[in-house]
Amino acid sequence: MITVMTGAGISTDSGIPDFRGPTGLWRNDPDHEKLVTLDYYLADPEIRRRSWRFRRESPARTAAPNAAHLALVELERAGLLDRLVTQNIDGLHQKAGSSPDLVLELHGNMSGVLCVSCGSRSTLAEALDRIDAGEADPACHECGGILKTTTVMFGETLPEEAVAEAVQAARRCRTFLAIGTSLQVQPAASLVGLAVRSGAHLVIVNAEPTPYDDFAEEVIRDPIGEAVPRLVARLIA
Ligand code: NAD
Repeated sequence: MITVMTGAGISTDSGIPDFRGPTGLWRNDPDHEKLVTLDYYLADPEIRRRSWRFRRESPARTAAPNAAHLALVELERAGLLDRLVTQNIDGLHQKAGSSPDLVLELHGNMSGVLCVSCGSRSTLAEALDRIDAGEADPACHECGGILKTTTVMFGETLPEEAVAEAVQAARRCRTFLAIGTSLQVQPAASLVGLAVRSGAHLVIVNAEPTPYDDFAEEVIRDPIGEAVPRLVARLIA
């Protein structure tokens, strides 16, 4: 069976910029990192206002899956997919048709909103309606606390259950595919090392070098939108 781990690079063809790629958000605006770092977010109302504006304008809200997301659905239909571990928060694997049961979102998703004080939950759509109505940094309706999306920010712990399942999937797979990730964010990146130590054949599809390239049996630098459908066709054949 094959375990796949995806990062922001699988969604650039859907119009969502990555963080560290050549046209990534952090290359153009190093300060952008603060928007996804919990300490800055909690301490600074201006960071929260920028963060909500960013979410409101984010292409991720209306993006459609691309050929690479669709190819991974084919991999599942062929009965070869164990788990699809993703660092992405855009929900495009599920939109493409991957079974929600098989998709493990290590960094949460951007469709929900959570109060950091009382834990009450709402949706991004509701928060954005309030922003459109003039609230730049909407507070929790229940307790007045700070609201954030249900994404895992730097400084937050990852969802335990998803991580535990991803670790198992990395350990038991025969092949581990890492697609569109710079493999610089831990602990997600460490799943690659775990898979290799457990005997998996590692294939990396990423335009730029990653710290794990030397451990891979195959490194594919071609654009993901072409490389992944081609690779999946080869694996299914
Ligand atoms: P990253 O930005 O660190 O790395 C993306 C990698 O993909 C880069 O090395 C880049 O060269 C490569 N890449 C981009 N487009 C490509 C293409 N078309 N073909 C081949 N390679 C391509 O992303 P990461 O490793 O996922 O880590 C960043 C963090 O950012 C993650 O935690 C993720 O949650 C978050 N993020 C998510 C989204 C999203 O949900 N779509 C977008 C931006 C950031």
